[in-house]
Amino acid sequence: MANIAFIGLGNMGGPMAANLLKAGHQVCVFDLSADALQQLTDQGASQAASAKEAVRGVQYVISMLPASKHVESLYLDPNEGLQEYLAKDTIVIDSSTIDANTAKHVGKQLSAKGIAFVDAPVSGGVAGAKAGTLTFIVGGSEEHFLQSKIVLQDMGKNIFHAGDQGAGQVAKICNNMLLSILMAGTSEALQLAIDNGLDPKVMSDIMLQSSGRNWTLELYNPCPNVMENVPSSNEYQGGFMVDLMRKDLGLALDTALKSQSVTPMGSLAQNLFSMHSMQGNGKKDFSSIFKLFSRNK
Ligand code: NAD
Repeated sequence: MANIAFIGLGNMGGPMAANLLKAGHQVCVFDLSADALQQLTDQGASQAASAKEAVRGVQYVISMLPASKHVESLYLDPNEGLQEYLAKDTIVIDSSTIDANTAKHVGKQLSAKGIAFVDAPVSGGVAGAKAGTLTFIVGGSEEHFLQSKIVLQDMGKNIFHAGDQGAGQVAKICNNMLLSILMAGTSEALQLAIDNGLDPKVMSDIMLQSSGRNWTLELYNPCPNVMENVPSSNEYQGGFMVDLMRKDLGLALDTALKSQSVTPMGSLAQNLFSMHSMQGNGKKDFSSIFKLFSRNK
């Protein structure tokens, strides 16, 4: 069993750290939120007063933070950055969804000090984090991929090696761009059916057995009360925030600009989610995009 520091115990990080505890690892946790820290301490984690205290003497550091600036600052801040506090043989796994260039930059700086780094963003949402069935998409050397797999397999079911440092992030934003398009498109189709007198549950069942079938219909229906235990049936609370999806779409479009790729559907999805956020929905789950198409707001 491994000694692990886990930093960032939000919607995703909290249940991921809990699964490491269930698997028998020693987990020392840190988050800026006292409530989040307490929840993990109640499940058997030890609590640190700072990130640098959390990483003392551990084999693995896992971070699950909101965005690029948080990750860069956690590891590279000139005063408090963990790069000065990590032992040489530490394996750093950043599972946040961030800009691939930031992941490469952090990886390069840590590697120069002999610290292993992989970017390992996830797919599968809060439900996957709780069930321990996440998909991890890892960027880094083969050796570091295999070392990180030892602990990732206690939080996930599918663990892919996408390529070198940063490749995990590129794969992740391609996937999320597609997810945002599917969520908006599914919402649009369901609303068209409702506007024409159909029952959204019946329409969902039809599409699930037809060529419109997709992940949102299978596991994350955006229309309230079609499916149990999804954010749409809980006033769009929990899950994956609209503003985090906007962040991922921004990352995808930045990447497309650099590689001169054509992404018209991604651009449209980014505009739809931005408009939805500006109408006061930024903190709701991203399936609330359904409301943008709905007559009953
Ligand atoms: P969240 O906002 O719920 O959690 C982030 C946590 O990080 C919070 O508890 C916050 O207090 C903590 N934090 C912020 N700065 C910190 C710091 N400097 N030190 C310690 N703790 C700090 O976000 P989330 O939904 O858990 O998402 C985390 C990452 O996972 C994001 O990059 C997101 O894009 C990605 N992601 C989320 C989902 C999802 O369904 N929620 C799915 C896949 C990927």
